[in-house]
Amino acid sequence: MKAAVLLAPDDVAVVDDRPEPSCGPRDVVVAVHGVGLCGSDLAVVSGRRPVPALPWVLGHEAFGVVVATGDEVADRSPGQRVVIEPNYPCLECSDCRTAATAGCRRRRAVGITEPGLLAERVAVPARFTWPVPESWDDADAVCVEPFAVALNAVRMSGLARGDRCLVVGAGSQGLLVSLAVAHAGGEPYIIEPHEGRRALALELGAHDAGSLAAATAFPAVIETSGAPEAFERALERTAPGGSLIAVGQSPRPARLTTFTLVQQRLTVRGCLIYDHPADFRRTIAMLDEHDLHPGRVLRERFEFAEAPKAFARAAEIAGKTWISLPRTEEMPS
Ligand SMILES: [Zn+2]
Ligand SMILES: [Zn+2]
Repeated sequence: MKAAVLLAPDDVAVVDDRPEPSCGPRDVVVAVHGVGLCGSDLAVVSGRRPVPALPWVLGHEAFGVVVATGDEVADRSPGQRVVIEPNYPCLECSDCRTAATAGCRRRRAVGITEPGLLAERVAVPARFTWPVPESWDDADAVCVEPFAVALNAVRMSGLARGDRCLVVGAGSQGLLVSLAVAHAGGEPYIIEPHEGRRALALELGAHDAGSLAAATAFPAVIETSGAPEAFERALERTAPGGSLIAVGQSPRPARLTTFTLVQQRLTVRGCLIYDHPADFRRTIAMLDEHDLHPGRVLRERFEFAEAPKAFARAAEIAGKTWISLPRTEEMPS
């Protein structure tokens, strides 16, 4: 079976020697149709985010079609189109029991601690596959996972209808956050140094924060770039009593004085992925009800065989990059 693997840092290849996935009693096998790329994939490829073994199957934002179901799976069936929720919390620890599964210490993160989804077929615990309508565009199916993160960040920010929200960074996550802000009734303003990315954000309905007076502060600010310098700028633009939500991350420190924190009465919170199962359920229901089309943030599609090029180019492309796989639904006999 074919898969896109990391052989060594910055060395991606599509190989043809991977074993077929084995379907456990509670698993389904999904024929993968599309996989989105994001910053965490690029961190794995560059070696900044170490993985347990090489070669390593890449990718975690995937959708496809169920081709086999385990003996104990009653609520999924072959032919069903599904999006994969690529984080598997243990569902037993105290975090999981209070529905805060993002905090689970035993959480398995697909593409990071578990082999990824950029393969012709993958085995996934059935409960982490979410049926989605055939009518959805592939582009929207690809974006469910990062859009769940974006919705979570906006909810955490406490944004009220009519509020201006500053979105720092217009990478794919920043673009999705802008769409989520607008959907929540807020007004997204963007800070982004890269001209192409900034132009894309404006095209998708965000305003340029550069059009406001430099000192304008926002009741809600969402930092998506992960650069400590950008976090510091974000802090300066958070209004007294406002919230700064960090989605981007870096091991380098950012400066925040307690004087600012206290005097400005700020709330600073980290937003780590989403909780199972509420956030995927909510995201899919929302996409089903509203014409949100998060797939609008996709700009370049690569064929499976071009996966090495897709990873090499993703960082420069304004908008999100994705890889589509050939549709060979049948399991080889
Ligand atoms: Zn991602
Ligand atoms: Zn847990």
